[in-house]
Amino acid sequence: MPSDAEFWSFASTFQRFLKHKLCLAEDPGDPCNSSIIDAHTIPRSQLKKIAEDGHIYSFDSSLSQLAKSDGNIAIKRFGIGRFSVLNCFCGRHDNAIFLDIEDVPLAFSPRQLALLHYRTVASELYRKIRMVEATNHQLETLSKEQKTDQDRRILDDVRAFNEGQKLGLRDGRVAFDECQRILNEKDYDCLSALIIRFDRMPTIMSVGGFYPEFGFDGLPLQRLGDSEEVYETISFNILASEERAAVAMIWRKGQKNPLAFARSYEKQPSNLYTTLAIQACFEHLENTCVQQKWWDGLKKVEQDLLLRRMQVAGSLSEERIASCLQYSGVTHDDWGFSCLQHFNI
Ligand SMILES: [Zn+2]
Repeated sequence: MPSDAEFWSFASTFQRFLKHKLCLAEDPGDPCNSSIIDAHTIPRSQLKKIAEDGHIYSFDSSLSQLAKSDGNIAIKRFGIGRFSVLNCFCGRHDNAIFLDIEDVPLAFSPRQLALLHYRTVASELYRKIRMVEATNHQLETLSKEQKTDQDRRILDDVRAFNEGQKLGLRDGRVAFDECQRILNEKDYDCLSALIIRFDRMPTIMSVGGFYPEFGFDGLPLQRLGDSEEVYETISFNILASEERAAVAMIWRKGQKNPLAFARSYEKQPSNLYTTLAIQACFEHLENTCVQQKWWDGLKKVEQDLLLRRMQVAGSLSEERIASCLQYSGVTHDDWGFSCLQHFNI
């Protein structure tokens, strides 16, 4: 297995491929006629709410950071215009599709939930397309190198990794097509959601999707790496709604793994909801940003604990442990639980 440092150096190659532009909404009947833009996966209007001087903190997994720290990622200050940007929609489609989420206050209406889910699934698909390209590029480079046993081993590892990525790409396309259909046909009953509202503003924001492997109770859900199985995605969002924090989990109605994941959260004590949501973001979502004041106020050991999660998340050599989302005994924050809502569960 490649080491952490090798993985994160590959991740930097991947970052270059992410700059390649493509509009996922393009369709023969609706061709793109405007240029690809920097599409924000967390709206700027949201980021502004936790930014200080127009900046937030997020992860630094750049090659220069990895080189100077033996492969360890760090937290870095980003301007909100530069954070959470993907080149996966043209300007016209981005405006047209996300109108009801960019220009309308977030209240988790059925259409807004469908749009949040669509954007998550779209950005995951885009990242998978680029990941497969980056891996193919790496395979080509490696194939040209001297054939020592070590080289061959690395080549085999990368090939195996690529096969896994291709499966993810296959399922990502299926999920994306389905989301597009739900939006076009306004078939919102095909989605389920759990929304948790708090009394205070969030200190972190996150938007992304993942395949739940373990619940908040430590029970196993999906085992990744099985080519026979279609992976079930959950969108996990921490955003501000009505000037207060909200966690929204969204999934395809009828899928049992995301449902069990959401239920396992619901069953935890409500005074831990904030901390558990923060843990989940650091465990699963690189597209997470945090308020500078909050992060700077954490003890060093607490910062290290959270960063360690992201490090493991990006690693090929460490498997997740069943208890990864269970309460670790450290309370990171508490925004004050207000209420819990089910949508079409
Ligand atoms: Zn387009």
